[in-house]
Amino acid sequence: MLLHIGIDDTDSRKHGMCTTYIGAVLMRRLAKVGEVEEAKLVRLNPNIKYKTRGNAAIALAVRTKKVEEAKRITKQAVEEFAVLEDENTNPGIVFHEGELPEDFSRFYHRALHEVVGIDQAERLLRRHGAEYVKYKLGRGIVGALAAIGAELEQATYEYIAYRARERWGTRRNIDAASVLAMDALTFPLTFNNFDYGEGRVLIAPHTPCPVLFGIRGINAQVVEEAAKLVLPGEEIALSAVYKTNQGTDAHLEEVSRVAEVRPFSSVILTGEVASEPEIIRGGHVFFRLRDDHGEEITCAAYEPTRQFRGVVRALIPGDRVKVYGGVDESRTINLEKLEVLRLRRERLVNPQCKNCGRRMESAGRGKGYRCRRCRTRAEEKVRERLERNLQEKLYSVPPIAMRHLSKPPVLAL
Ligand code: ATP
Repeated sequence: MLLHIGIDDTDSRKHGMCTTYIGAVLMRRLAKVGEVEEAKLVRLNPNIKYKTRGNAAIALAVRTKKVEEAKRITKQAVEEFAVLEDENTNPGIVFHEGELPEDFSRFYHRALHEVVGIDQAERLLRRHGAEYVKYKLGRGIVGALAAIGAELEQATYEYIAYRARERWGTRRNIDAASVLAMDALTFPLTFNNFDYGEGRVLIAPHTPCPVLFGIRGINAQVVEEAAKLVLPGEEIALSAVYKTNQGTDAHLEEVSRVAEVRPFSSVILTGEVASEPEIIRGGHVFFRLRDDHGEEITCAAYEPTRQFRGVVRALIPGDRVKVYGGVDESRTINLEKLEVLRLRRERLVNPQCKNCGRRMESAGRGKGYRCRRCRTRAEEKVRERLERNLQEKLYSVPPIAMRHLSKPPVLAL
């Protein structure tokens, strides 16, 4: 019998923990009662307020004859490690035996793009006779069910190393030079190891959680090999490799007009820059985008997107662009990527006087232009070539600001 197990919402921003750690412990414990055939680390809607950090859930598929024993082991691990004392931690476990219903896959897609209720997950689980366990509010059943339903046609892999328990909450001492060497050898088969613009190691979190470091890449073998090149600075107490939807852009949906942009979704939208980009206090850059129906929406490149803001600032009205990003409550698109499709290369200016070379001024509405000094005249404005510091290509935020789900431009999946 193939038993699908989904788990979510076990960690706490303050006290640490990580659902993937419980998954790794379980992989080891469940090996005693069966064979773990698949381990998925599934990122869900990055725009929801309930998330602790990266909105991750996990799902395991275990081939076992001891289904009840496997369930018991799972519940015990969640109860042992979940941070139940944090008021925002509301764990959920979902068990499903055998073939996965199509409904589960549809639920995964909804959990990527929308905000779904606990009751909606519960209704679906009951309809399909799946067993589930809710701790406190049990919000975790949303992510747990979605993770089980994720079919991951496009996938990447992550190797995660975990720390010995006594090290949790202490400083990590990963050798940065070894990370650079690993990156030099394995990039772009692995990705987001280091941000060269910021000079920052990206494989290790700064949270009190059990994760020591994680390496992302295009297959299980490459991430495991890459991990061996890292000098971790301490014992690796446990490790696991997950199949994941990270770096796949699974959250983005192309919409054809502004009217289709829903709060809390993630969209791809094409249009024309309709206003000069504006920098506000805090270093955020905003501009208006007009779709082909004349409707407008605000796009934002926030301060943490660093040098990407320079790209956005260099846009001018009339540029044709494709924007990629998450949508907030007020329907502002928080840019993750921007593709410049067509740069405006010209602008209309008042003609120059042939005599003195000065710019002419308007002679009045519909009366053309004149040079006051030389009394020369001209009928129309003239085109002037614009020098642009942008190229017609895809620009992305730097790795340090990249969302887990965002596909790095170097990644060929
Ligand atoms: P970490 O990345 O550290 O594991 P997290 O960011 O994954 O933390 P969770 O603790 O998993 O945060 O909290 C997310 C909560 O939101 C879970 O209870 C999950 O079930 C729920 N959730 C996930 N996706 C959706 C969605 N689309 N709509 C509503 N709730 C969701």
